[in-house]
Formats: sequence, structure tokens, C-alpha cells
Amino acid sequence: MTTATVLIADDSLVIRAVVKSELEEEGYRVVEAVDGLAAVQQCRHDPPDVVLLDIEMPGLDGYQVLSELKNDPELSDVPVVFLTSRGGMDDVVAGLRGGAHDYLRKPFESPELLARVAAATHVKHLQDQLRQRNADLDRLSRTDMLTGMYNRRHLEQELARLHNDSIRHAAPLSVLLLDLDRFKNVNDTYGHAAGDDVLQAFASRLSAELRAGDIAGRWGGEEFLVVLPRTDLTSSMAVSERIRSVATAEPITSAGVSIDITVSGGCALGPRDSPASLVQIADHCLYRAKEEGRNRVVFDPQG
Ligand code: GH3
Ligand code: MG
Ligand code: MG
Ligand code: MG
Repeated sequence: MTTATVLIADDSLVIRAVVKSELEEEGYRVVEAVDGLAAVQQCRHDPPDVVLLDIEMPGLDGYQVLSELKNDPELSDVPVVFLTSRGGMDDVVAGLRGGAHDYLRKPFESPELLARVAAATHVKHLQDQLRQRNADLDRLSRTDMLTGMYNRRHLEQELARLHNDSIRHAAPLSVLLLDLDRFKNVNDTYGHAAGDDVLQAFASRLSAELRAGDIAGRWGGEEFLVVLPRTDLTSSMAVSERIRSVATAEPITSAGVSIDITVSGGCALGPRDSPASLVQIADHCLYRAKEEGRNRVVFDPQG
């Protein structure tokens, strides 16, 4: 575990000095804030793992600082331990209700301070792990494992979103479906592993040709889908032709063997009725590209 950072926010120099020396001795990194406003600013500037928060401070008091932190999505997970000098249960309850993780009554003994900070740090660590795992899972659920591009599930979501945008803004939208030519021959001739290398290399060449805002991924097998927002017939012809020619210009090398590839494409112009109809039209165009001899892109006749 990396060094945990604790922010001590208290208007008392003595309290800050005591807390700082106790925690630093335990290996924590300690930063200080002299009042509520400084505490919020410090948290935004350098998010700590735990906040030790005095209640009575000039300007923003502890409750107000707590509410600022809880309302900030970047900081709402940071455990806050209230430092209260009041004997009453009321401010403890108010603090916990406001989202505080724990509280510590002043004056406090060093072992209690360390135990509460350790517990809060542990909670923060678990939350960080969970957040990271969720982010990893989220990314995995969108990713095609062989190529690292978006998978079909995510492409369908993005296509639906961009189709909506296209209708709402009355802007054109193009959908390009690409299919590697005679790919079965690649597998039959060079083996399945070489076929996988070809798919990966093609995917990275395709990705390199995309413009900001274009969404592309693996639709399935040796098929790739590219969604081109705000792209009319003229532009989509230029983009498609560039992708087709650039992505297949050089042979792909697998285990020292050079493999020539070509790709065919079908391009639909939208928005049309639905995302599904766009894909269907692109698929019809792709079929015609195959029939007309492959290594070409055929465009939606109604484009
Ligand atoms: P066409 O030009 O008409 O598209 O011919 P094709 O051979 O590319 O089309 P077909 O649909 O007959 O074959 C597609 C092949 O793609 C068959 C399948 O084994 C292969 N394929 C699909 N997914 C993968 C994969 O992940 N890795 C490898 N190596 N091959 C794959
Ligand atoms: Mg105070
Ligand atoms: Mg195919
Ligand atoms: Mg094919």
C-alpha cells in the first residue's frame, strides 16, 4: 500500500502540530488546513485518503466542509473523521448523519487517534480497490479481447446514441461495415494463429485511420463496424476509401510470413429509421461489394 495522506483541518495550531507529529511517526503523509475553506481547497488540489475535521472553525465550519466534500463526486468517498471538543451527542450524530465516517473527541489519546485513522484509511483503500475493479470491469465489458477494440455490445450502444444525436441535430451519420476478404483462406493457408494476428493488425491500422468522434469496433468474426457521426456521403466516401486502401496497403507479417489482405465495405447513410436499419443497409452494400469483386466499398444508393 502506498503512503496514505491525511488532511488535518483545524484552526488550532497546537492540535495540527500534535496530530501531524503522531501520524508522521506512523508513516502517514500529513497535510494541514487552517480553516474550512482551506480544507476544501486542499482536498480539491490534492485529494487525501482521510480527513480529520474540526467542527468549530472560522468561515466554513466542519459540517459545511463535510457537505462540500460529500457533494463533490471526486471527494465523496474520502472518509471524514470529525474532531469534536463538545461533550454532547448532538454534534456527533449530526456529523455521522452528514456522512462522516467516524469521530474523535478532543482531547484524544494517541492510540485512539491512530486506530481511528487506520480504520478510515483501510475503508478508503477498499473503496479505491472497488472503484478500480469497477472501472476495469466496465472497460472489459466494452472490449473485444482479441483486438482491444470495442465489442459489438458497446458498438450497438454507441450506434443507438449517435443515431439519436443525428436525428436530434438533423445531422448526417454514416455507418461503414467492413469484412476481410477470403479470410477463411488466411486461416486455411497460414493457420488460425496467423488469422488472429491479421485481425489484430487490421484492427490497429483501422484505429489509426479514425477521426476524433468516430467509433469503431469488432462487429464479429472478421467484420468491423465504423460509425461516422456528422459525416455525409462525400466525406464518408473519402473516409471509407482511405480506410480500405491504407489498412490493406502493406502485407501483414505473422511469424515471419507476409500475408496480403484486402477488405470490402458497405456504407449506409443515415439517420434512416433505426440503428438496425442502418446496419442492414450497410450489410446489403457489403454483400454487393463482395459480388462486384471484393476489395471495394459500396455506398447506400439512397445516400
Ligand atoms: P468473404 O470474402 O466472402 O468474406 O470470405 P471469407 O472467407 O472472409 O468469409 P467466411 O464467412 O467464409 O469466413 C470467415 C472466416 O473468419 C471463418 C472464420 O473461421 C474466420 N474467423 C472468424 N473469427 C475469427 C477469429 O477470431 N480468428 C480467426 N483466426 N479466424 C476467425
Ligand atoms: Mg476549532
Ligand atoms: Mg464475414
Ligand atoms: Mg470475410
